Amino acid sequence: MSRNVLVAGAGAAGLTAAYFAAMGGARVTLVERTDKAGKKILMSGGTRCNVLPVVMEPDDYHTGSSPNRLRNIFKTWNLEACHRWFTDELGLPLACEVETNKWFPVSNEARDVRDALVNACLRAGVRILYDTPLTRLKPVPDGWSINGGALFAEKVVLASGGYSVPSIGTDGLGHQALAGLGLASTPVYPALTPLRGAHPGGAQLAGITLQVAVDVVAPNGAVLARNRRSGFLFTHTGFSGPAVLDVSHHWIRAHEAGETPPRLLVSWDGRPAEAWDTDFRTFKGTVRGLLHHHLPARLADALLASSPHGDAPLAELGKDKRRDWVLRMAAYPLAVAGHEGWRKAEVTGGGIPLDVLDPATMEVRTHPGLHLCGEILDVFGRIGGFNFYWAWVSGRLAGQKVSAAR
Ligand SMILES: Cc1cc2nc3c(=O)[nH]c(=O)nc-3n(C[C@H](O)[C@H](O)[C@H](O)COP(=O)(O)OP(=O)(O)OC[C@H]3O[C@@H](n4cnc5c(N)ncnc54)[C@H](O)[C@@H]3O)c2cc1C
Repeated sequence: MSRNVLVAGAGAAGLTAAYFAAMGGARVTLVERTDKAGKKILMSGGTRCNVLPVVMEPDDYHTGSSPNRLRNIFKTWNLEACHRWFTDELGLPLACEVETNKWFPVSNEARDVRDALVNACLRAGVRILYDTPLTRLKPVPDGWSINGGALFAEKVVLASGGYSVPSIGTDGLGHQALAGLGLASTPVYPALTPLRGAHPGGAQLAGITLQVAVDVVAPNGAVLARNRRSGFLFTHTGFSGPAVLDVSHHWIRAHEAGETPPRLLVSWDGRPAEAWDTDFRTFKGTVRGLLHHHLPARLADALLASSPHGDAPLAELGKDKRRDWVLRMAAYPLAVAGHEGWRKAEVTGGGIPLDVLDPATMEVRTHPGLHLCGEILDVFGRIGGFNFYWAWVSGRLAGQKVSAAR
């Protein structure tokens, strides 16, 4: 007799878990609280869905749990094998965007990713129940009673996501069901989130994009992160783009905890202070000329207007003014005053700690038969397909293990 499994949440992780559980021989019911599967997949990557990164390093991820535990979970399915699953098993060809090291569907349509996953589940025999939220979980002899006895399963995979974009069905309902079992989340906070704040010199620079590098420096001077050179966007309310999103959680986490947030220091063209110092010493012309040489004109003018020194021939800059200009160009403190919250967060920081799981099975140690995967857990990655990779890997592992022979 095949095992009866319930998966809750038809997002990236839940669809993957349901597919692998069904392929492993289980009778799988996938319950989704909304009327559609994979709403977040549909909106991802600007509706192109960045399915996977091309390369992955351990420090592409953040977790408050043991990094070793996380590494061991990733070891169960490397990028190459995961990529093959999409192309060979799901029939979804992927194309590499070389400049950003990201995989997208060849069609550039997120809908094709969602449809490939749903169709694979249906072919594997998964029964999908829409408009069916999981609200309560109770261990009973031989399995789990769900929603006060409305459903029963021998094994449950909870893949209900986190708190980001609550309007589409991810507002922590799964966390509440876990809290009913005494399983607590670490404090959660919006991550990969645009920040609010005034543009340099009080100018309105919305729409300007450029490549920058951002250092995150704690109030005690410790460098918390050095971001690689990546895209920066001035928005109507502040700052966005991967360079900002990838470090936003450092500011938001401290701010939400009532602590003094770290400073975000921007090099406006991604080069270190030494390179800017050389430019200020050797460039022929004025400060304005040098700034315009490297930066979009409106930003160069705003930086010039906000400086107490004004324009001057570079040859006439004294040591102090030159040092000040180099700092403004290589370590400009962004005037961050807030953030765009869960509404605009791409993922959740914090969540259910990995430490409550057996990393070989994704099963909650204290609650046999209950497995977790995806964004509900205390793991998130930077921009670049890393978050979906986590959803695919953790979903597959949970799905395989719930269907495994007793
Ligand atoms: C705008 C945006 C763009 C993004 N772009 C990318 C990208 O290009 N690449 C990338 O790697 N990552 C991207 N991400 C992040 C990525 O979408 C998430 O990491 C990923 O969707 C998490 O998968 P999940 O299955 O764990 O959760 P989700 O995708 O959030 O799925 C959870 C599902 O569970 C359902 N649910 C919730 N509670 C219950 C319940 N109690 N009972 C039943 N069902 C429930 C929800 O309705 C939802 O369908 C993006 C995120 C956003 C918001």
